[in-house]
Amino acid sequence: MSIIDTEAIRKDFPILERKVNNRQLIYLDNTATTQTPRCVVDSIVSSYYNTKANVHRGVHTLSQEATLLQEHTRERVRAFLNARSSDEIIFTRGTTESINLVASSMGQLFKDGDEVILTVMEHHSNIVPWQLLQNRVDLKLRVVPVLSDGALDMDTFRSLFNERTRMVSVCHVSNVLGTVNPVAEIIAESHRHGVPVLIDGAQAIAHTTVDVTSLDADFYVFSSHKMYGPSGIGVLYGKREWLDMMPPYQGGGEMIESVSFEKTTFAPPPFKFEAGTPDFIDIPALHKAIDYICGIGVENIATHEDGLLHYATERMNEIPGMRIFGTAPGKSAIISFLVGDIHHYDLGMLLDKLGVAVRTGHHCAQPLMHALGVEGTVRASFAMYNTAKEVDIFIDALKRSVAMLQ
Ligand code: PLP
Repeated sequence: MSIIDTEAIRKDFPILERKVNNRQLIYLDNTATTQTPRCVVDSIVSSYYNTKANVHRGVHTLSQEATLLQEHTRERVRAFLNARSSDEIIFTRGTTESINLVASSMGQLFKDGDEVILTVMEHHSNIVPWQLLQNRVDLKLRVVPVLSDGALDMDTFRSLFNERTRMVSVCHVSNVLGTVNPVAEIIAESHRHGVPVLIDGAQAIAHTTVDVTSLDADFYVFSSHKMYGPSGIGVLYGKREWLDMMPPYQGGGEMIESVSFEKTTFAPPPFKFEAGTPDFIDIPALHKAIDYICGIGVENIATHEDGLLHYATERMNEIPGMRIFGTAPGKSAIISFLVGDIHHYDLGMLLDKLGVAVRTGHHCAQPLMHALGVEGTVRASFAMYNTAKEVDIFIDALKRSVAMLQ
């Protein structure tokens, strides 16, 4: 018996009823993107049908309604993260753009010889934006390795600080290993050295309670599509003192106070970082996604997913030759694995033929793959609507696929 009513929840996700290759879809690619409940889709439709107007610029009713929906969402995100002010909530296109924004803008304050600490388990979107800065400044990237169970090597992390360290940027949860990093400890240690911290919360936000104020995070970023929300939008939380100091990321409408050819002045945060028309259709739908998650309870979702993680892990270990990457205590419901010398791609293809959607490949984490000594893995990941019965079907499909490929 689950702590949440998955049967009722599944009714809110029409896609879960569809067939793939004549079989019932078993969707276990939730790390890549979660599915979308009806209330979120309804919000998108309602915005198109009822309130479509550009925000912040109109005196007319539709524009004012659209603006209110957007700004109420900003306040909803603030409350969800327990940020101090909604001015600290910036809407972006997603985690990737949020990190690019911080790297690019904070990067303008960096000097030759400065250093940024990352970890080997970062998604490419938390590596490449920092590398792009190296075209402008002589920036050194210091990389924290992982231990054999996939936990972060905190001793090495602590040893990497010096007077040139300008930033720490780490994921809250690894999209490959499922490792939940000790972000409170990482932030406290960084602050002891006077260094700000960006937390990539892409894989955490829908699976654990995030309180940016008690964490004392300087930046916290995530994507809406990984938290049952619409695709194409995301959030950057930034502490006001940093946002005030940071130069704009892009120029254009919405982000200015006044413009002349001689001198342009910028609007205060958050608008300083929101150049151009925002995604006023999808932003209110994110509000619905947050309400949906909170209606079920993030902690209840976490407990449910944890149950699935343990059950699936136990059953997967029945399979000879099973290698699971990432076994750190308290890990999130993400299982990356290989079986014997079967290619991850072949396994993924056969599972798909049996209706099971998993991800295969390097998961945008090539440096981690290199550290693990593999080219890629198969990854199964769970969300609130998955069930133990689906785990059983997945395990049967896995056993059949392995038997065919061995
Ligand atoms: N960071 C992590 C940990 C992720 O898992 C992902 C996506 O899988 C991203 C960043 C990038 O997210 P997006 O493509 O939504 O910007």
